[in-house]
Amino acid sequence: MTSAEPLFRLQELELRLAQTIKRLREIADQLANDQVIREAEQQIAVAQQSLRPLQTRVRDLELEIQSNTTKSQQTNDTLYSGRVRNPKEMQDMQHEVQALQKRNQDLENTLLDLMLKVEEAEETLNERKTHLQSVQSQREHDNADLIHERERLEGEKQELQQKRDQVLKSVDAESLAAYNNLKPRKHNQPVALLVDRSCSFCQVEQEMSVVSEVRRGHKLTTCSSCGRILAYKSG
Ligand SMILES: [Zn+2]
Repeated sequence: MTSAEPLFRLQELELRLAQTIKRLREIADQLANDQVIREAEQQIAVAQQSLRPLQTRVRDLELEIQSNTTKSQQTNDTLYSGRVRNPKEMQDMQHEVQALQKRNQDLENTLLDLMLKVEEAEETLNERKTHLQSVQSQREHDNADLIHERERLEGEKQELQQKRDQVLKSVDAESLAAYNNLKPRKHNQPVALLVDRSCSFCQVEQEMSVVSEVRRGHKLTTCSSCGRILAYKSG
């Protein structure tokens, strides 16, 4: 008695097992990889770094404007207090007030430009924070699905391995050796079915002698074209 038919079942189980293991590896990789989140966090850090010096500059400008205003008011107050009588001194003070006001106008223009930049930078930062949140919630959602799938596949893997062990019991050592020998050369598909008179893999019709041999099942017979072990599936 040969084991061509169980070899075909063995092949089916091993192909499914290989696919299951491949998918489990992909899932493990995906679960371990939070590259997307790291990138989103990095983008936030970059936005914060460009915002901070702008905010500092705004504060400095505001302080300088404030100080100029105070100084200008004080000089003005002194000027109109009647305490200063010297025309040269009065003129110097007027010039000083004018210079301070002119300086403040320039500073306020700069401040206005700067505030627009701060606004833009804040907007960018907020967008990136929102992006991180959406990436995180997507990740949690994806992970839930992946963990579910992993559980299911682990169960399937175990089941397939048990079935495989079961099938192996009905395969003799010689047939298994032939199967394992052909397997790497036939892309993990060393067995084909004989359907009517043709090989299910390459579709080539076999000689009657081959067909009868396969049907008798006394020894392993290979397809005359692709070289795969032919299994006869009755019924
Ligand atoms: Zn063939």
